Amino acid sequence: MTRINPGGTIGIMGGGQLGRMIALAAARLGYHCHIYCPDENSPAFHVAQYKTVADYTDEKALTAFAEAVDVVTYEFENIPSQAVALVAAIKPLHPSVKALEVSQDRLAEKSFLAASGVTTAPYRAFETRDELGEAFAEIGKPSVAKTRRFGYDGKGQFMVKRKSDLDAVMDVTKGAPAILEGFVSFDREISVIVARSASGDVAAFPVGENVHTNHVLDTTTVPATINDMMEAKAKVMATRVANSLEYVGVMAVEMFVTDASGDIVVNEIAPRVHNSGHWTIEGAATSQFEQHVRAICDLPLGRPDALGKAVMKNLLGQEINDFEQYLSDPTAHYHHYGKSEPRKGRKMGHVTWVKPE
Ligand code: AMP
Repeated sequence: MTRINPGGTIGIMGGGQLGRMIALAAARLGYHCHIYCPDENSPAFHVAQYKTVADYTDEKALTAFAEAVDVVTYEFENIPSQAVALVAAIKPLHPSVKALEVSQDRLAEKSFLAASGVTTAPYRAFETRDELGEAFAEIGKPSVAKTRRFGYDGKGQFMVKRKSDLDAVMDVTKGAPAILEGFVSFDREISVIVARSASGDVAAFPVGENVHTNHVLDTTTVPATINDMMEAKAKVMATRVANSLEYVGVMAVEMFVTDASGDIVVNEIAPRVHNSGHWTIEGAATSQFEQHVRAICDLPLGRPDALGKAVMKNLLGQEINDFEQYLSDPTAHYHHYGKSEPRKGRKMGHVTWVKPE
């Protein structure tokens, strides 16, 4: 692993708000950024020095992009893994192709998590109606059917409450590879944002407690309302996952805290900076975005400590226009992602309140 010093150029695949905030953090440390994204109107383009507007299947453009930068990262996990592999053959790529592939396929993800020694919901793969019947007989009700690929924010998911729901599941999955997993009766949802550098240093941020509305993250609160033992356990689990992937960069590990016994069940991983880590920009000694840049450039990791109690709220659709309210609030930090169309439900920005302890 070669260190990339400030002054170097970081390539970012994907041009959304996560890429934008990585580029802003990178700029502060003196790096240049080159964003690769097929969509001309990408929020990350506004804040980066170089851009490539091309499809993820455009091998010529991918090659030229990789040759123009010192290190490559990505900001969302649905990038075709062939595109990422092509780039990785030319320049260092962090997180690895393996991390991306594991997170792109819910079956691979679940088996990887189980092999890393963390608890997951019981699961079974299916494609056909017969296999679904067998999976249901084994997993029982309630359960959740999820397509193996391209699911996010609850898309491609179906709740199974009774046997008669199974035909409707097939209408959703349409024979695509899927898994049926046991429904976890959880008390709260938490996530750990953890960074691991190429030298193997690991730093986990304080645990965030997440509230979703209509399957989309609404708020993250830090500290989470869990005891110190649970806080430590969640961080150990996230660290175990990062180490067993030999992960380099920042990742999010999403977990359920069950009401019955206070156990922690890992739901999924995101091999990238994450919405539930936005509070770190003003609420932690180092932001998740700067931490990601440090990790992928093989610099020392920063301190992940919280600077107080933090609450992050996503601003969806027209909520972005309430800036006056947030800008007149001395404890609020307002973020606008620079997207022009405030479509209903679209993540347009966020606001973070930090109250020093
Ligand atoms: P996912 O796409 O896996 O992140 O799931 C989106 C949301 O659906 C989660 O944040 C949970 O609120 C809910 N969910 C997913 N899987 C389960 C499960 N096995 N048990 C209970 N709720 C779940």
